[in-house]
Amino acid sequence: MSKAYVASALPRQPGISGWVALLPPRRPHPAPEGNITADVVVIGAGFAGLAAARKLSQLDPKLSVAVLEAGIVGEGPAGRNSGFIIDLPHEVSAESLGGDSAAHSRRDIFKNRTAIALAQGMAEEHGWGREVFDPCGRHTIAKGPAGDRHLVAYAEQLKELGEVHALLDAKQTAELTGVTTFSSALFTPGTAMIQPADFVRRFADALKPPVRVFEQSPVQRITPSGAGWKVESGRGAVTAARVLLAVNGHAQSFGLLKRRLMHVFTYASLTRAFEPRLLGGNRQWAATPALPMGTTLRRIVTSEGDRMLVRSRYSFNPTNTVSDAAVVRAGRLHDARLASRFPMLRGLGMEYRWAGAMALTWNSVPVVQEVEPGLWLAAGCNGVGATNATANGIVVAERSLGVMSELGRNFELSAAPGPVPPEPIATLGGKLSLAFKEWRAGDE
Ligand SMILES: Cc1cc2nc3c(=O)[nH]c(=O)nc-3n(C[C@H](O)[C@H](O)[C@H](O)COP(=O)(O)OP(=O)(O)OC[C@H]3O[C@@H](n4cnc5c(N)ncnc54)[C@H](O)[C@@H]3O)c2cc1C
Repeated sequence: MSKAYVASALPRQPGISGWVALLPPRRPHPAPEGNITADVVVIGAGFAGLAAARKLSQLDPKLSVAVLEAGIVGEGPAGRNSGFIIDLPHEVSAESLGGDSAAHSRRDIFKNRTAIALAQGMAEEHGWGREVFDPCGRHTIAKGPAGDRHLVAYAEQLKELGEVHALLDAKQTAELTGVTTFSSALFTPGTAMIQPADFVRRFADALKPPVRVFEQSPVQRITPSGAGWKVESGRGAVTAARVLLAVNGHAQSFGLLKRRLMHVFTYASLTRAFEPRLLGGNRQWAATPALPMGTTLRRIVTSEGDRMLVRSRYSFNPTNTVSDAAVVRAGRLHDARLASRFPMLRGLGMEYRWAGAMALTWNSVPVVQEVEPGLWLAAGCNGVGATNATANGIVVAERSLGVMSELGRNFELSAAPGPVPPEPIATLGGKLSLAFKEWRAGDE
C-alpha cells in the first residue's frame, strides 16, 4: 500500500552566490495555483531535474511535464558550483582522480560525455555564447612535488585510456596563470565550463510547453492519487502518473534513502573585479586541484573587470544544512589561498561567499530507482553533479518511460548504494575522513 511522503525539511542556500549576483534580474516562473494535471512531475530544477525534463521531452515531445523547484532556478547547488562539466573520471574524495579500473573509467567517461552532450545540445540549439557554455577544456594544477607526482600518474592513466592530454611544466603553467606559484599542470580538452547560474536559468527558461517550470514551489507532500501521485506545493497541486524526485540529498527529507546518503558541503568565494593588467597570464582559465580535496581556481572576465573564484573546504553535515558562520570560516581559508597564490591580488577582497550541498553515496554510486510504481528517485551526485546528476536525470527519465539506453545499461552495472554507518560513527568517521584528506591535500 502506497504511503504519503512528507518533506521534513526544505533547502536553504547559505551565503550569496556570485554567479547569481552577476546576472541581470529575472522574473521567476510562477508557482502552481489550484489543481493541475500533467503526465510527469519532476521535483527539483538542478542538473538532474532539468536533464530529466529535457530527456522526457526528447523521448516524447507530447508529454506534459511540470517541474517544481523549491527556490529560484540557479540559486541552488546547480547554479552555485564552480562550473566544471568534467568528462574524465574525477572522484573528489577518492585516493586518485582517475577510476579504479580501465573498464570502470571508460564507463565513467561515456556517462560524462553523454551528460556533456545534453548540455552542449541545449547550448547549440539555443545559441548560448561561450560566456554561458564553453567547451574549452580544463587544467588540473599542482603546487608542489606531491601534486606533480599525482599529475604524472594521472597522465599515465589517461595515456592508457587513449585520452588526449598535455602536461605543462612550471614555465608553461606560469604563462597560463600569470604567477610562478604553480609547479605543473595537466590540460585535458573535454571539459565544458559553464556560468552555472546562467546555464541552469537559461536551461529552465528554454523548456517550452508542454514542459512547464514552476519556481518558489517547494513540494511538501507526495500522496497516492488514483493510478498516480498528487504533488502538493503551497496553494497548488499537480497530479501525474509519474513523479521523478530529483532533489539530491533532500530525498532524505522525504524519508527516502535512509542511511544511504552523506551530506557534504563545499564553499566558494568570488573576488571583487580587478584590472586585467594586475595579473598576467590568460584572462580565462579554470583549474581543478592536482590532489583530490585541494583548491579549485577559476579566472573569469566580467563587465566590471576580471575576477577569481576560489573553491576550497569540504564539511560533513548530516543535517544537510550549514551555518553562515561556516561560510565565513571557509572564507578565511579562501582569502589565505588567494593571497598565497596571487600576491598581487592580496587585499583585493572577496565580494561574494557561499556554500552548497552535495550528496555522496558511501560507495560513490548513483541512485536511480523506482521507489513505488510511478515514483522515481534520482540522487547521489557524488560531488560532481554537473555530469553525474545530469546523467542521473537522463537515466531516470528514460527508465520512467521504459526506455533502456547504453547509459541506462551502464547504470545497471553499478552496485547498490552501500549503508552509511550508524550515528555517531557516521558523523565522526565522515568528519575525520574529510579532515585527513584535506590535511593530505595540504596547500594544493
Ligand atoms: C561551491 C561548489 C562548487 C562545485 N563545483 C562543481 C563543479 O565544478 N562541477 C560539478 O560537477 N559539481 C560541482 N559541485 C557539485 C554540484 O553543484 C552538485 O553535485 C549538483 O548541483 C547536484 O545536482 P542535483 O541536480 O543532483 O542537485 P541540486 O543541484 O541540489 O538540485 C536539486 C534541486 O532540488 C530542489 N529541491 C529540494 N527539495 C525540494 C522540494 N521539497 N521541492 C522542490 N524542490 C526541491 C533544490 O532547491 C535544488 O534546486 C559544486 C558544488 C558547490 C557547492
